[in-house]
Amino acid sequence: MNIETRKEEIKSNGEEGAVGKKQGGREIGMMQGQEKKCPNGHGTMTLKTNENTITFRGEELTLAVEVYICEKCNLEVGTIDQATVIQNMISDVYRLKVGLMTGEEIREKREELNLSQKEMAKRAGIGIASIKRWENGFIQTRSMNTALLAAFDDNRTGNKYTGNRVLSTPRIKLVMKEFEKETGHKFLEDGDNLLFDVKYLWYADMLAYYYLGRGLTGATYAALPYGPQLNNYRDLIEIIRGDDETKAEPLSPEEKKIISRVALTFHSKRSVYNATHREEIWEQKSFGSLIPYSDAAKLTEIQLEPHKTKEPD
Ligand SMILES: [Zn+2]
Repeated sequence: MNIETRKEEIKSNGEEGAVGKKQGGREIGMMQGQEKKCPNGHGTMTLKTNENTITFRGEELTLAVEVYICEKCNLEVGTIDQATVIQNMISDVYRLKVGLMTGEEIREKREELNLSQKEMAKRAGIGIASIKRWENGFIQTRSMNTALLAAFDDNRTGNKYTGNRVLSTPRIKLVMKEFEKETGHKFLEDGDNLLFDVKYLWYADMLAYYYLGRGLTGATYAALPYGPQLNNYRDLIEIIRGDDETKAEPLSPEEKKIISRVALTFHSKRSVYNATHREEIWEQKSFGSLIPYSDAAKLTEIQLEPHKTKEPD
C-alpha cells in the first residue's frame, strides 16, 4: 500500500471539502447548503480548509480541517462536529502513516466479507467493543492489526497462524475441559488470565498441527513476555469462559491422544509454563509477533517422534 499516495488522497479530499462528509461510515460535519453568519454582523462566512501539521505519537501528521471564516474580520469558527472529525482524522492519518488499517478500511473489509461487527469479533478472536472502537477512530495495536489482517485473509480453512482452522472459542473451552480431566488441575478459573492454561493449549494445538495437519482450535498465538499466549487473550478470556463447549466439534480420538500426551509430559502448570520458555520458537521471536504453526516441527520440550524415547538431560 502506498501510504504517501493515500495521504495525498485524504488531503486532496479535504481540499474539495469532503473531509467532513464521511468518516468511519457516519455522516459528520456540516450539512451542505447550510450557511453560517459572522457573529460580528458581516454576513455569510466562507467554508475553507486549513492545513494543520501536528505531532502525534512521534509522527508528523498533516490534517486538512474545515473552518468557517469571515472574509471581513478574519474570524474563524470550527464546524459543529469538528472535534470528532479531527480526532478521526488524526487517528486515520496516523494509521495510514504507520501502516495500520484505518477505521474505514476495517469497516470496508468487514462489509466485503458480509460480516457483522459481532461476527467479525468472533472470527478475529477480539471483543466486539474493540472492533467498534477501531472503526470509529481508536487506534489498534500492531498485534491487533495483525490479528485483523489474519482474520480478513482467512478463507474457510484458516491460515498458517490459525493452524488450518477457523478460530473456535467453544473448542478452546472443550480442549481446556479435556486438559482438566487429564491433569486434574482446574482450568479457566475466575480472575486468572490463562497465563498457565494457555501453555497446555499451545502445545496441544502445535502438536495437532504437526501430526494431523490441523490445530485443535484455530487460535492464533503471539510471542509475549510470559511465553506463547493467545493473541488478544484479554478479549478472548471472557468469550471463552462464556462459551458452551458442547457446541464445539467433538474431539477425535487422535486429538484426545495428543491432549493426553501433553498432559502426561507436563505434570504441573509451572512445568509447562517453564517448558515454553525454553522453546526457541518463542524465545527468538520479537514480542508481539505471531508464532506460525509450522514452527511446531522445531519444538524441543516435547517429543515429536511418538516411539523415540527421550534421552536424559
Ligand atoms: Zn466578520
